[in-house]
Amino acid sequence: MVEAVEVHKRFGNLEVLKGITMSVDRGQVVCLLGPSGSGKSTFLRCINHLEQIDAGMIRVDGETVGYRERNGKLYELREREVATQRRKVGMVFQRFNLFPHMTALENVIEAPVQVARRSKADAREQAQRLLAQVGLAEKADTYPAQLSGGQQQRVAIARALAMEPEVMLFDEPTSALDPELVGDVLDVMRGLAESGMTMIVVTHEIGFAREVGDVAVFMDGGVVVEAGDPAQVLGDPTEERTRSFLSKVL
Ligand code: ATP
Ligand code: MG
Repeated sequence: MVEAVEVHKRFGNLEVLKGITMSVDRGQVVCLLGPSGSGKSTFLRCINHLEQIDAGMIRVDGETVGYRERNGKLYELREREVATQRRKVGMVFQRFNLFPHMTALENVIEAPVQVARRSKADAREQAQRLLAQVGLAEKADTYPAQLSGGQQQRVAIARALAMEPEVMLFDEPTSALDPELVGDVLDVMRGLAESGMTMIVVTHEIGFAREVGDVAVFMDGGVVVEAGDPAQVLGDPTEERTRSFLSKVL
């Protein structure tokens, strides 16, 4: 579903991704860990084409990100085509960035109505279902400021799901939350994983990664240091760098 091959990305003189290769099958949950600055967010942003890569290739659901293939040649996508391609990918950030002047339900229907041109009635029905899925059926008409951080994050997940993505990317979705609110968000993510969603999750929640992740990937300095069964990578890592990182976060 997501395939990255030798992905390189630099900002000026700083090479942030130094050849990332990773493959995520449909329905798989991959948890990405690594120290601050190791390139985790940048990698997610590349998958979503929020950043353009310098070398290598990323494919999502069989399509090369940012390019169209014809007769064996690659042609760069125009902005509108990029937007269409991006719909396959849902993204949830550390900060919930909901539209503050819209209710939970309005936040969820915004993209389906404005971008995907769905009818308002359809979008509302779907939004109610999604808000119920994230445990917020009662909060449809509530504004973000009246929701807890965890509730806002769950609305953000519902909003991403409303575009019916093929894969969901999570960038430290619980790290800005008060500890007592983390569990509800992780529960929603666990449910999503059980429903068969393909997910790449940047998280330092080791328990979640071990329990829900099919694969754990440890990144450092723009490379994949170690990847594999979460029980092994997080429980008995091969690499010293992984060990030393885990001893700090655990
Ligand atoms: P954290 O755990 O702190 O979120 P991360 O692994 O997500 O870290 P990135 O945000 O991907 O790391 O950043 C990797 C490196 O790239 C950092 O050194 C960062 O300063 C740099 N970087 C990221 N985005 C940009 C940008 N737009 N311009 C310049 N440098 C950037
Ligand atoms: Mg980051």
